[in-house]
Amino acid sequence: MVDLKSQYEKIKEEIDSAVINVVSSTAYINGPEVKAFQEELEVYLGVKHVIPCANGTDALQVAMMGLGLKPGDEVITTSFTFIATAEVIALLGLTPVVVDVDPDTFNIDPAAVRKAITPKTKAIVPVHLFGQSADMEAMMDIAKEHNLFVIEDNCQAIGSDYIFKDGSRKKAGSIGHVGATSFFPSKNLGCYGDGGAIFTNDDELAKQLRIIVNHGMVVRYYHDLIGVNSRLDSIQAAILRVKLKRLDQYCAARQKAADYYSKAFANNPKLQVPAKFERSTHVFHQYTLVAKNIDRNKLQEFLTAKEIPAMIYYPVAMHMQKAYQDPRYKQGDFPVTEMLCNSVISLPMHTELDEEQLKFITDSVLEFVNNN
Ligand SMILES: *Cc1c(COP(=O)(O)O)cnc(C)c1O
Repeated sequence: MVDLKSQYEKIKEEIDSAVINVVSSTAYINGPEVKAFQEELEVYLGVKHVIPCANGTDALQVAMMGLGLKPGDEVITTSFTFIATAEVIALLGLTPVVVDVDPDTFNIDPAAVRKAITPKTKAIVPVHLFGQSADMEAMMDIAKEHNLFVIEDNCQAIGSDYIFKDGSRKKAGSIGHVGATSFFPSKNLGCYGDGGAIFTNDDELAKQLRIIVNHGMVVRYYHDLIGVNSRLDSIQAAILRVKLKRLDQYCAARQKAADYYSKAFANNPKLQVPAKFERSTHVFHQYTLVAKNIDRNKLQEFLTAKEIPAMIYYPVAMHMQKAYQDPRYKQGDFPVTEMLCNSVISLPMHTELDEEQLKFITDSVLEFVNNN
């Protein structure tokens, strides 16, 4: 699905020297590379504060802790996402309230959010799924009306722009009260291990978040809050500095591959290509088709036999997961999500796809589609 090796080969010298510099500096934890990366990411995203942490799941958890959410508070999120989003809500003793998604963008449906609000609702967690921002203006309007926090799960859309109705732009993840991202190797800005970050423009919240990621410690060995240990390694920060400079170029390479796919599949009645949401640029963390009247699993097997990786993100809706069984929800409650779980298929998507590969992939998909 991703070709990290070819990407590395092209930046090998710069990466290797960045890594060796950290190793020989011995500043392995919170060294100058972490601080420099933090500042560069603040500039890139146009946010006042970036708080690096250990991974995207921690970023979401710490964001919720920093906002002071308490057991029993309801947090609205989408039923069609990677499990981490709901996991941290449940782990903190908060009540996940799931809602359905838009069938074209796969992102949280603002009308469904409105309907799910109760007096206990404290926050909304939109996920910018597959590289495209959710409807953030709608989220912020709802949040303002009902006095809620908005926590953006930006693990899949770093680099994408949200385009406001007045034409102005902000980076996805920088619009809500707080944003969270992951630097897992296959993400759009990936390091060579685990990493994550939290973003906010709120000075007070940033202060809290920095304390929480460091064991709740303000003065060394004096713990004012119950915190966690969540740090970005200096080596990973050094790698991310090399890759952040290329993030826009990497996003463009993904967009180019996506254009190739979408041109090849245009007007095919059996394939729904990714919809362009007018309020967001798409950085294609995934290129995800919806199979119409063809067997998605058979298509996956057909591609696998040709050594083309194709993945199902995600096969099971959040409310149908074993660990998240809840008497409030049953099969059929979120028809769009359930339809997507049965019909989506993601094609290889990364920065190194060439024409030859793209042609082979699209020809193979069309061969199956035209014969089934
Ligand atoms: C990857 C991802 C996460 C978790 O990030 P990790 O760094 O793997 O912990 C959370 N939410 C979404 C939507 C993701 O894609």
